[in-house]
Amino acid sequence: MVNRSDIHNIIVAGKSGAGKQPRIDVLVNEFGLTQLSTGNIFREYVGAFDASGFKGDLEGFFDEINDTFIKDEYIEKAIREQLPDLEHIRPVLLGLKAKYFMNLGRFVPDRTTNELFSEYFSKGGYKGFVLDGYPRTPEQAQFLLDLCSGNDTGMDLIVVVNNSDKLIIDRTIGRRICPSCKKVYHVEFKPSADGIHCDECGTELVQRSDDTVERIQMRLVEFYDKVIPALDVLEKTGIPVVTVEGNLEVFTEENVRRSVMEQIEPLLE
Ligand code: AMP
Repeated sequence: MVNRSDIHNIIVAGKSGAGKQPRIDVLVNEFGLTQLSTGNIFREYVGAFDASGFKGDLEGFFDEINDTFIKDEYIEKAIREQLPDLEHIRPVLLGLKAKYFMNLGRFVPDRTTNELFSEYFSKGGYKGFVLDGYPRTPEQAQFLLDLCSGNDTGMDLIVVVNNSDKLIIDRTIGRRICPSCKKVYHVEFKPSADGIHCDECGTELVQRSDDTVERIQMRLVEFYDKVIPALDVLEKTGIPVVTVEGNLEVFTEENVRRSVMEQIEPLLE
């Protein structure tokens, strides 16, 4: 049994498109936590890269034989040649690397992901987060456990959002996101009021460039190959795991809240 006030960090896991966001919203409200999403962080850096106006063939920077990027200094040199007045190169460099993998529907390598994650996790004092989309590999899971034990914190709960591959494909194709405040909609299941703009901030909604059938299938393969083993690593340390249904017959805020809390409440004192 866990005391409600002892829940400092929660991991939310599930296939990309399983319906994690509405469950995360519930956890953020119920436990007073902040969402920390590696996918959103990467998208922000990709935004910085796109905004820089750099034009070039991203594949040219990746060494397929050794499965790694060429040295940062060479990539930076190429960026500087095109954009001599660029003020901050790091976000553009990170965005370039993230974009290369996201475009392929592949995971960003562990080293880059862990580095970025720990930067954001430490900014919040290692406490008070709902982790979304991290950890996604056994190496990331181990990195997280080490980071927590080195900073006197831990993961108190894992919430797995469950959904079938077929439904995920149908849902993801219709997903729309607000590029500004990151709110997530669906053309059929959760449209915005006018179907075009974000209800919260009025920005025009967009489809994620990685929300195509081919990319979704790639991400499902990554889930079975890497995320499931990552969850095993965490579960073995005794972190409690609950599974919540990602597909509800009647999708209302209250139904989502209840479906999440019904699973968690038996664990609470
Ligand atoms: P998401 O929005 O969580 O589906 O993430 C979008 C993309 O960002 C993924 O398909 C990956 O390319 C990348 N990404 C996000 N989180 C991670 C992670 N923990 N490890 C590796 N790549 C990630």
